[in-house]
Amino acid sequence: MVPFDFAYYRPQSIAEATALFLELEQQGKQPLYYSGGTEILTLSRLGFVSTAAVIDIKEIPECRVLDADGDPLVLGAALALTVLEETNPFPLLTKVAKEIADRTARNQITLGGNLCGQIFYREIATALLVAEADIVIAGPADIRQARINDLFHQQLQLGRGEFVVQFKVDRATATLPHFHRKRRKQGEVGYPLVTIAALKQDEAVRVAFSGICPFPFRSADVEAHLNDRNRPIGERIQAAIAAFPRPILHDIEGSADYRLFVAAQLLEDALRELGESI
Ligand SMILES: Cc1cc2nc3c(=O)[nH]c(=O)nc-3n(C[C@H](O)[C@H](O)[C@H](O)COP(=O)(O)OP(=O)(O)OC[C@H]3O[C@@H](n4cnc5c(N)ncnc54)[C@H](O)[C@@H]3O)c2cc1C
Repeated sequence: MVPFDFAYYRPQSIAEATALFLELEQQGKQPLYYSGGTEILTLSRLGFVSTAAVIDIKEIPECRVLDADGDPLVLGAALALTVLEETNPFPLLTKVAKEIADRTARNQITLGGNLCGQIFYREIATALLVAEADIVIAGPADIRQARINDLFHQQLQLGRGEFVVQFKVDRATATLPHFHRKRRKQGEVGYPLVTIAALKQDEAVRVAFSGICPFPFRSADVEAHLNDRNRPIGERIQAAIAAFPRPILHDIEGSADYRLFVAAQLLEDALRELGESI
């Protein structure tokens, strides 16, 4: 049971949602945008989240768009992860989504909720970072669009009262050769020890990670080493790993050294599958 009372709002438009946010904030209610609600409810029960009002964005039509026929593809932030599995508009994103939580949870967990959640794996970010997706953000002042790579630094940098409305992915990018692998400590459900999502475009490999650091990342330095064809693959991978941001996670799921070992194995698999000569 959630140990506090909160008001629940279900606005029908972006303007209504942002206006509500301001109004509730002025009333001191510390409002939260609410999408699938899985994290808000779980962390509330544990005492890590407290709010007097939630603003459910699922009734806002723009947040539920799934335009798989146009260019760019448009994916609403309130789409449940299982909707991606059923429609598969962007195969790499589908593969990432399919390995998050279990199917029952994925019926609730949304694209935007995974990206903006406090639970730091945010695996959806890996596919969106390598695809260089655009992100549509609404706030009290305006609606803006930006490249996710410019806004996602460990987590999405949102302004006061802003929420994610949509993601846009170039159709050509969505069909590029790709690689995804998630390794857990054990079993087929759970948080990642290491997740890698990679795409190859114009002979360059782009790669993003979750599970290695307490945030997902894509790094220009890491990619420069991986794409340095003057060196043997083993050296490229070791140099890439040395360039990983810090800290490396070291917890009950796995030690830092083990995570780096697994990352090296997966990078070798990724480069091989993406046609790099080993
Ligand atoms: C059983 C379980 C297993 C999990 N396993 C994994 C896993 O393997 N890998 C992984 O990466 N994650 C995993 N998670 C984390 C999960 O993906 C996140 O908790 C995610 O936030 C839940 O999405 P939601 O739509 O339910 O978010 P909500 O609970 O609705 O919201 C979570 C947070 O995001 C904010 N938010 C939601 N939508 C938006 C938006 N559109 N714009 C701005 N802010 C927004 C909310 O204000 C809130 O702070 C797991 C969670 C559960 C419950």
